[in-house]
Amino acid sequence: MMKKGIYIHIPFCQTKCPYCDFYSMRGTEEKKDLYLEALIKEILFHKNISADTIYLGGGTPSVFGNERLKKVIEAAKKNFSFNDGEITVEVNPSSCDEDLIKVLSSVGVNRISMGLQSAVDEERKFLGRHSDREKIKNSIELCHKYGIENISLDVMLGVPEQTLETLCKTLDFAINSGAKHISAYILKIEENTLFYRRRDTLPLPDEDTVCDMYEFVCDYLENNGFNQYEISNFSKQDFESKHNLKYWNSEEYLGLGPAAHSFLDGKRFYHERNFEEYLKNPTAYIPDGDGGDFEEFAMLKLRLTKGVSGKEISEKFGEENFQKLLKNSVKFISMKLMNFDGENLYFTRQGFLLSNTILSEII
Ligand code: SF4
Repeated sequence: MMKKGIYIHIPFCQTKCPYCDFYSMRGTEEKKDLYLEALIKEILFHKNISADTIYLGGGTPSVFGNERLKKVIEAAKKNFSFNDGEITVEVNPSSCDEDLIKVLSSVGVNRISMGLQSAVDEERKFLGRHSDREKIKNSIELCHKYGIENISLDVMLGVPEQTLETLCKTLDFAINSGAKHISAYILKIEENTLFYRRRDTLPLPDEDTVCDMYEFVCDYLENNGFNQYEISNFSKQDFESKHNLKYWNSEEYLGLGPAAHSFLDGKRFYHERNFEEYLKNPTAYIPDGDGGDFEEFAMLKLRLTKGVSGKEISEKFGEENFQKLLKNSVKFISMKLMNFDGENLYFTRQGFLLSNTILSEII
């Protein structure tokens, strides 16, 4: 039986960033205690699952409290028969200190994902991030001090007032920090955010500039030893995110906590975005149909730079499905937005920038 991935959502943040629509809130100590209790109940409910990746995301896991983090990670390891694998915790530099990293390292956390966003302090302020470059540097050094070498940094493109020059400063910072993995996301203005309400006055770079930024990031990171393996993800050799690869490879995972999604035993289901309801019943799920069909499989695989393998699709879903996909892709192959090397069908770099539109046409 293939081992699963476990995602644990920690829905607490110190403040709300103006661009963020993740499910998060400010939490009191009492709320955090109740939440830990509910999470443990949900873990125990699924204790027959065996996992080889655990990922604590949010929100901001680093504001949950060191003892609570320790308890939830220990409970997950014990009940999901976790022996060896990847345990990632998202850490916000502004809530990172030596005690936190010491505790995380002591319970076996071996990967830290940090929200750098930008190494230019003015851009960080625009994004509602209050820690400066020095604080981020110190947080990374602390991880190294406690033996956590596998560090991933999030970088954001299309930030207000960002230019190719300031983006380059951010990339240099990330490359020189010793990070093994970089995720580079294009800022999306989501409804229900402060940025959305202020969208007409935000000094955002125009669409063409953002596309140039994306291509620049791909080139710059490749030239500095980071291999692009997914539309937004780059890593040093063997440092790809094992947990996130499960999503893109259509493997199964369990998501714990409000707003978390799961794909288990062929079914998709999720929790409501409702903290109080979760506390009342942490194992109430909303069904979301069957998962892992041909369309979903192909769409997820095409996020990867190596794309979909004709052989794999033919074996799983029948050759006619792959032939149809290939036929639909011919136009985009001739436009150099996709490529087929005789075995794999995949997006080119320019194709990634238009992947949503292309996918809706070919699948
Ligand atoms: S971006 Fe991260 S830290 Fe900021 S509000 Fe959203 S979840 Fe919290």
